[in-house]
Amino acid sequence: MNKLDAVAIGELLIDFTPAGVSGQGLPRYEQNPGGAPANVMAGLTKLGKRTAFIGKVGEDAFGRFLTGELEKHGVDTGGMVFTGEAGTTLAFVSLDASGDRSFSFYRNPGADMLLQESEIDWKRIGEAALFHFGSVSMTHEPSASATLRAAAFARREGKLVSFDPNLRPLLWPDLDRAKRLILEGLTYSDVLKLSEEELHFLTGERDLEAGTRQLREQYDTPLIFVTLGPDGSFYRQGERTGRVPGFAVNAVDTTGAGDAFFSGALFRLMESGKRPDELTEAELDEVCRSGNAAGALTTTRKGAIPALPSLEELDQLIRGS
Ligand code: ADP
Repeated sequence: MNKLDAVAIGELLIDFTPAGVSGQGLPRYEQNPGGAPANVMAGLTKLGKRTAFIGKVGEDAFGRFLTGELEKHGVDTGGMVFTGEAGTTLAFVSLDASGDRSFSFYRNPGADMLLQESEIDWKRIGEAALFHFGSVSMTHEPSASATLRAAAFARREGKLVSFDPNLRPLLWPDLDRAKRLILEGLTYSDVLKLSEEELHFLTGERDLEAGTRQLREQYDTPLIFVTLGPDGSFYRQGERTGRVPGFAVNAVDTTGAGDAFFSGALFRLMESGKRPDELTEAELDEVCRSGNAAGALTTTRKGAIPALPSLEELDQLIRGS
């Protein structure tokens, strides 16, 4: 039996989100742990899985805070690396008058970009049943090569490989390179999760059927999800496609909904004990419903990791529908 259910490689950063104004009328910020692959591991842990995270942070208070947050949520951090060469990556979120968000990144470079192939904890990857990655760690070298080598290794070792490109155009010096590296990531992936925007970016298609068919034909990806916000999700498994409606909830903050979706869906997939191409239509429906429920619950609370649901909450929402 595997010692770990899942391991992820990727970025870990602080999202400073607006938190009102001080007595002097100055803006306040809340220090939120961020990084999509880590959120997915925290989500799986909350549902009862044993997970680990591999990434690089600065030898500073922020790096210690992030490591502590993962540990607090039960994610193994033995594969994390600390550096004095750059500070922990920071992002400040600003809201304009209409509530739209914009990001300012402090990552020039940020510690997360400096993870090297030689620093990867191959043993933890070898010990896990599932390997998860994204593309924020592929925007720059050396972490781009480190991420792709780790994914290739996991694939060779027969791990279930999940990929959420989580495209952040602002972080890429060159979007053609983004596309090329994300498509390379697809060659190692068993389960892919995209937004509608990402599907369009990768395929030029807005049509879910046509776009996912193109990826399936080119990369032979066994299972593709496209998340649709409040409308739920779409899946493609070979020639089989389906749409699973979302849950109606009172959404207050959609941060981390996509990561919660993926943790809920991967959880159900792992529980089935099957490979993605072996799932029946009913099981695919359940996998998407589990993802939709986890995503929906996360939008009802503020933040990403603190908003992730427990298994009990997830079951309750699914059963109650
Ligand atoms: P991302 O956070 O990556 O933009 P989505 O917004 O598509 O991803 O959200 C991921 C999943 O979370 C959706 O597929 C859906 O199941 C759920 N979800 C997101 N927003 C809502 C909402 N307002 N109400 C209910 N479910 C939601």
